[in-house]
Amino acid sequence: MSDNKNSFNLMDMIKRVLFTDFMKGLTITLGYNLSKSITLKYPDEEKWIPHRRWRGLHTLNRDASGKELCVACELCSKACPTGCITVIPMEDDTGRGIADRVAKVWKVDLVRCFFCGYCEDACPTRALRLGREYELACTDSKCTVKEREELLKPQSVPESIEGGFIVKAKFEKTPEGIKVVPDLSNSKKRAW
Ligand code: SF4
Ligand code: SF4
Repeated sequence: MSDNKNSFNLMDMIKRVLFTDFMKGLTITLGYNLSKSITLKYPDEEKWIPHRRWRGLHTLNRDASGKELCVACELCSKACPTGCITVIPMEDDTGRGIADRVAKVWKVDLVRCFFCGYCEDACPTRALRLGREYELACTDSKCTVKEREELLKPQSVPESIEGGFIVKAKFEKTPEGIKVVPDLSNSKKRAW
């Protein structure tokens, strides 16, 4: 027992004399200094494009002919654990949706949503997806509730793009003012 204790003390003493732990820490720090920078110049110069599996702002889809895929079945709102989706159905035979039953109101309260994806999984027509829009901060509490009309607009990153990289940002004029959006035409992409 005392032999073990003595050898432990000796090893400890040698480590202290040779600054072993200090050298280990220094090696890690030097390694980071020599590795490639991963600093992201967000938001005005660079934007991150998340992977497809990212769960961001809800998006409501249309079919190829432009009809809304949502049939206002309310399954998404029933599946939502926080009850933050409101769907009010109505009958509409003008061809707005793929069925006569369409959503009069479809809205989600982002303050209560925690982006679990249950609503997306419950949707039988694949009308609902959690998209890749992640810039959801705003100063007005009203803008945390997203309505059908807004969610039907295509998001800035289309489904066809795989994601998982950083692109340059560009300024774009929109009816709401100047926005900084990802420049997807820029071929210079770097891995995240
Ligand atoms: S992502 Fe989850 S919490 Fe958010 S609306 Fe869908 S089911 Fe509800
Ligand atoms: S989004 Fe899907 S689940 Fe929700 S009401 Fe529409 S069709 Fe039903």
